[in-house]
Amino acid sequence: MKAAVVGAGLAGCEAALQLAKHGIDVDLYEMRPKTTTGAHSTQHLAEFVCSNSLGSLDSSNASGLLKKEMSFLDSFLIKIAKDVQVPAGNALAIDRNLFSQKVEELISQSGRINLIREEVKTIPENCPVILASGPLTSDALAADIQKFTGEEHLHFFDAIAPIVEKDSINFDKAFYASRYDKGEASYINCPMNKEEYEKFYEILINAPRIELKEFEKNSKDRAKFFESCLPIEVLASRGKDTLRFGPMKPVGLVDKRTGVENYAVVQLRQDNKDATMYNLVGFQTNLKWGSQKELLKAIPGLENANILRYGVMHRNTFINSPAVLYPTLQCKKREDLFFAGQLTGTEGYTESIATGMLAGINMAKLLKDEPLLELPKITMLGALTHYISDSEQKHFQPINSNWGIVEEINVDKKIRKNKKLKNEMLSNRSIEYLKSTTDA
Ligand SMILES: Cc1cc2nc3c(=O)[nH]c(=O)nc-3n(C[C@H](O)[C@H](O)[C@H](O)COP(=O)(O)OP(=O)(O)OC[C@H]3O[C@@H](n4cnc5c(N)ncnc54)[C@H](O)[C@@H]3O)c2cc1C
Repeated sequence: MKAAVVGAGLAGCEAALQLAKHGIDVDLYEMRPKTTTGAHSTQHLAEFVCSNSLGSLDSSNASGLLKKEMSFLDSFLIKIAKDVQVPAGNALAIDRNLFSQKVEELISQSGRINLIREEVKTIPENCPVILASGPLTSDALAADIQKFTGEEHLHFFDAIAPIVEKDSINFDKAFYASRYDKGEASYINCPMNKEEYEKFYEILINAPRIELKEFEKNSKDRAKFFESCLPIEVLASRGKDTLRFGPMKPVGLVDKRTGVENYAVVQLRQDNKDATMYNLVGFQTNLKWGSQKELLKAIPGLENANILRYGVMHRNTFINSPAVLYPTLQCKKREDLFFAGQLTGTEGYTESIATGMLAGINMAKLLKDEPLLELPKITMLGALTHYISDSEQKHFQPINSNWGIVEEINVDKKIRKNKKLKNEMLSNRSIEYLKSTTDA
């Protein structure tokens, strides 16, 4: 039995090692060093392109739980990361060169993985495939993926607005309403008077932005990809009232408690099926995270909002997974095709390894005629894979592990308020589930 894995980054290497472990031969394709991505700087496999941290190891932290689950499911790369760990408090930070070296050793010792240093320009058709070519997938392959998924189902950049936890919104100020009372009142609205708007505007135009990387700029030093989806700070820089006629338009949004139409309104749209997470409509932003925090605090109703995901804007190739994938990472249109890594719309090093692991396990199961592993939303990995496959297609944007996507647990009010304790309970529930059910 044989499969191809395209891309020997974090997801691809993990997927290949999982396949080999389950007795499947692998052709692992990597285009570097012949063709580069602009972000990778070596020819090594599983290169960490930016920071050297995989995030927290604490299981009351979302990323910590994900790593715990991955260790339980026998992730090769998490084990290596722990072997080459450098001191970083509670976080799993690594020596990146040593990490790549150990991954390469394991791959060459596996006896089943054939590394081919070649760019794959079209999705291989004559063998089972895991596509793990990452956020900087080469242009030719991206074009072929787009042909396969349909033009509207492949995106080339993240333009993400912050997401907040619904329970942390102050409903003494915020209210439910839809514009002109059309449809269900499913939006949450945060109203502003003139003074509040002006204070908010001052913070926004003076806030520091994250600098663009070279491969994200055009000749005028601007982001290549912002034309159709401008960041809120760029809109604001066009004039003091631009936002009030754009994403913060107040017309038709009346607070029924007061009968007042406001000076400006920030709208929040439901982000997950369980309605525990809401994103700020039109608030895609490239501001530094500290500034985003300050800005959100200046919005009436969000003074104490718990930010589940910050806004980001960067180059990122990802498929519209809700249209393309099952939660097993198997493609709906072609059963022997799986996607893994950042390409699936999960975000982050740990998440990329995690989806590589699941795609590898499931491809092996498919080839051995076994039922695929579909994790429930009480696990962090299951919550991620359900989020990417079940979200609303129209507004789908990448996500990293966070507690907002995990199925709620029934606890009394006191525990609900003690986040650490509640998260520890969620972690224990996940690990107990894995212990009782999986044989991966
Ligand atoms: C600039 C940048 C900085 C980031 N910084 C962080 C960070 O600090 N922390 C964090 O958690 N996440 C970060 N990420 C997000 C993400 O975690 C990483 O990109 C992660 O490496 C993604 O893993 P992956 O396996 O999906 O892709 P990659 O690790 O990028 O692996 C994909 C591999 O496929 C190869 N490839 C591409 N096209 C082809 C082709 N056609 N044929 C053959 N090979 C191909 C590439 O050369 C690459 O080796 C960053 C992303 C970017 C773009």
